[in-house]
Amino acid sequence: MTARYDIAALKSRLDGIRTEENPALVKQKSRDFFWYSPTLKRQLDHVVGDIVVSPTSEEEVLRVLAAAHALGIPVTPRGTGTGNYGQAMPLSGGVVLDLSGFNKVKRIEAGRYVAEPGAILSKIDAETRAHSNQEIRLHPSTYHTASVGGFVAGGSGGVGSIKWGGLRDWGNIIRLRVATMEASPRILELQGEDLHKVAHAYGTNGIITEVEMPLGPAYAWVDVIMGFDTLRGATEFANALGEQDGLALKNLAVVAAPAPHDYFLRHRKFIPRNSHCVLVMVADFALDSLLAFAQRFRGSQLLMRSDTLTPEEAKGLPPSYELAWNHTTLRALRVDPSITYLQVLYPFPNQVELVDAIHARFGDEVTCHLEFVRFDGKVTCFGLPMVRFTSEERLEEIMAIHEEMGAPIFNPHRYTLEEGGMKQTDEVQLAFKREADPQGLLNPGKMIAWEDPDYDYRSGRTFLFKALGEAGAGS
Ligand code: FAD
Repeated sequence: MTARYDIAALKSRLDGIRTEENPALVKQKSRDFFWYSPTLKRQLDHVVGDIVVSPTSEEEVLRVLAAAHALGIPVTPRGTGTGNYGQAMPLSGGVVLDLSGFNKVKRIEAGRYVAEPGAILSKIDAETRAHSNQEIRLHPSTYHTASVGGFVAGGSGGVGSIKWGGLRDWGNIIRLRVATMEASPRILELQGEDLHKVAHAYGTNGIITEVEMPLGPAYAWVDVIMGFDTLRGATEFANALGEQDGLALKNLAVVAAPAPHDYFLRHRKFIPRNSHCVLVMVADFALDSLLAFAQRFRGSQLLMRSDTLTPEEAKGLPPSYELAWNHTTLRALRVDPSITYLQVLYPFPNQVELVDAIHARFGDEVTCHLEFVRFDGKVTCFGLPMVRFTSEERLEEIMAIHEEMGAPIFNPHRYTLEEGGMKQTDEVQLAFKREADPQGLLNPGKMIAWEDPDYDYRSGRTFLFKALGEAGAGS
């Protein structure tokens, strides 16, 4: 791979910009959390860039893009590499564009902030809270490690989605500044409808150099864990709780027994093994109402509330959002490396019945994990169920059964935008790639519509990017 590009010529054009060629460090920055998936682990484990380039300003980003364009070298942007699908992995080698040092919060105003792409979400939140008691609306459970640019380009939602929906929803991104990959890279300002061109496009059609995002009022959040004897009881309670518009919630998840006891090791002391848990982040002023509401549900049991723990009990406990979203899977993997996961939508209005039916069908091969969200204005749930992995064939079969039963899968075992999403071409993102990256140098291999316009998504086959070669073949 290395001989394909003139890296020495590239470096000579990047005077003053930090670069790194130490093979161990380049390898480290060429990876993300792709290994969550046994399929992606097999396909992508060998992927490595040729050089890491770390610009710290928009002007430096433009210089890197112009130089790489002139030399025909691919560029794969990277925030902090916490994505799960190999999104930030350079499938054709070339430049890993590390944006983690381009990370200032530039402006905070009533209801909004402006930041550079590499800013870490928890750092932005700390600054907006200190500035004017405002907080970011949405963050992934990787709050302490993920960058805002990586969230916009590679994430979907998370903590806050029970109130605000996902990143795809109108109003959750205000404005993006984007650099194009051309002989003379341009800067474009995108707002409104145009945001769809680059949001969740994995950096395949532009480099985000600035974000403007909305803020909400900052609250003191309390973690509550409720236990139920049955999964149905926990799901019905969570669904009803999510519909209480007056209760200020930040996150609402269900994890079926015995996973909370077996995998949430620091919380184990609070959780009986047979308890199906509802994890809630609630504003301190809404806690009494939440507990009163819970009493209406037969069998509900308060297992933990973070505001009354003694210092001894609270010692070393992670926040509850680090038990939720993909942190649930991470904690399971630490205890049992044979576990993998799915991403499922249980569509409104049948979500409670569907969850029940699907989990009755699979038993303990698929352990239920739900995240309640607002989806097009309705409360429903996504699932990130944990799957006892036996083979890639069985995993495919489990996903097919979900879809047959009416629960669409967003396949987390694929590295392309289309296969991980709606399994169809996104014409808006494709058209913008033609305009902003005419040579196809940005994050190659991730947009099927660009690589293979005739690809048949109904073929049942997995798309294989040719530059991945034999190591990625199969399935
Ligand atoms: P990276 O992984 O570095 O990049 C993500 C994508 O964006 C890549 O395609 C990259 O090429 C592109 N990119 C990065 N920066 C730019 C830029 N400036 N311009 C253009 N393209 C760019 N995700 C969620 O949505 N919700 C969750 O709750 C959630 N929980 C997670 C929990 C765990 C334990 C893990 C491992 C992952 C989780 N994720 C979640 C996935 C991931 O953490 C988030 O999406 C995160 O926001 C990605 O940010 P990052 O800086 O790590 O991006």
